[in-house]
Amino acid sequence: MPDTGAVRAFLEQRHIDWARRIADFCAERIAPLPAPADDDPARTQAREILELLGKGGWLEPIGRLDLRACALAREALAHASPLADAVFALQALGAAPLLLAGDGAQRTRWADPLVRGDAMGAFVMTEPDAGSDVAAMRTTATRDGDAYVLNGRKTLISNAGLADTYTVFAVTDANAGRNGISCFVVPADTPGLRFIGPQVMSAPHPLGELAFEDCRVPSSHRLGEEGAGFKLGMAVLDLVRPTVAAAACGMAARALEEAATHATSRMQFGQPLAGFQLVQEKLARMAMDLTAARLLVYRAAWEKDGGAPRITVEAAMAKAFATEAAQRIVDDAVQILGGRGVLADHPVDRLYRAVRALRIYEGTTEIQHLIIARQIVKDAEARAADAARRGEPAASSSHAAAQAAGPGG
Ligand SMILES: Cc1cc2nc3c(=O)[nH]c(=O)nc-3n(C[C@H](O)[C@H](O)[C@H](O)COP(=O)(O)OP(=O)(O)OC[C@H]3O[C@@H](n4cnc5c(N)ncnc54)[C@H](O)[C@@H]3O)c2cc1C
Repeated sequence: MPDTGAVRAFLEQRHIDWARRIADFCAERIAPLPAPADDDPARTQAREILELLGKGGWLEPIGRLDLRACALAREALAHASPLADAVFALQALGAAPLLLAGDGAQRTRWADPLVRGDAMGAFVMTEPDAGSDVAAMRTTATRDGDAYVLNGRKTLISNAGLADTYTVFAVTDANAGRNGISCFVVPADTPGLRFIGPQVMSAPHPLGELAFEDCRVPSSHRLGEEGAGFKLGMAVLDLVRPTVAAAACGMAARALEEAATHATSRMQFGQPLAGFQLVQEKLARMAMDLTAARLLVYRAAWEKDGGAPRITVEAAMAKAFATEAAQRIVDDAVQILGGRGVLADHPVDRLYRAVRALRIYEGTTEIQHLIIARQIVKDAEARAADAARRGEPAASSSHAAAQAAGPGG
């Protein structure tokens, strides 16, 4: 079960009960699933997992946008199977634009089946020339009567070729920059939507490319106002990023458990590895990193669940810190396992391959750092402008306070 103790202050009793229930489900139904050898069995297994999640009601917190419950679910799923975590994540990413911007009819028609697990979702933003720079996208959605005609190509799309419902971002006004992007629901059987083919990852994760070729959708498939798609996409990412961070914590927790178990049982030089201080130091750093990451995750989710309108900086901190920390933790686990840690069927080797992508998707670590730094600079500029208005020198408040207090203050 996710270690709810360390983050208890951010949780309610219902979250702790939920964490226990989903951890039991994962141990019984998800962990025993065989690790898929390559892309085809991963796609088949993703469908099976979706059915399990849907039937058990494990996707329900997505429908309520209950971020703490979603984070706990992703921790538990990622601990048992990174593929199962991806299945949950894509239902959330596919449904969130509908839940944030859809009207009642759109939510009933497309979001509800995603939350029940009756339909598989996908979030379609990235293009060959528009990755971190989302606003550079070129896929167009041209108005034609009471419809839009989509043309363009999307790449690195999770669930491409597998999803039933694609939430797609496209340009409706090429002269309006960020304000010229809109969001549409495109059902998989829409003529003109073509699965180009899979992009095979080092870890099991259905990924691929899509083409839109005169793909026509009624204007009732547009989510929110025309031109509001960029803002909507960013709001969705703010919401989902803490849960990516939670998935990273789930993988890191599993790696730490594997490493600790091995370190206490493996004998070298006449004693368990855990007896060596160099190994103890690794275990201690892993645990500290993991706890710090989890505090950032549940702080961000708690803020959002408590009604914060945006958690851009909190989400960026959680995602950047937790995914980077998880990479270090999993790498240390491999090191503690020694040669066994790089055998392809060992859980820590599978985690080693799975954890890498988390530092890239839904905004790279560098982009999260830019988001955090932008806010720091903005705050500093606001303080300077405020000081200037009051006719004070533009010193930092702590410097000013120290000066006011005199030596030793
Ligand atoms: C497993 C996986 C699943 C994915 N699933 C989806 C999905 O379902 N839907 C979807 O739309 N997309 C998806 N993506 C795409 C993902 O969102 C992009 O890969 C990501 O946004 C980065 O874009 P890029 O790969 O084009 O890299 P680029 O944007 O080209 O970046 C390359 C490098 O340059 C750095 N960089 C870029 N700009 C700056 C800057 N201003 N300052 C400093 N450094 C910078 C980046 O941090 C990165 O290190 C997925 C990717 C992966 C790996």
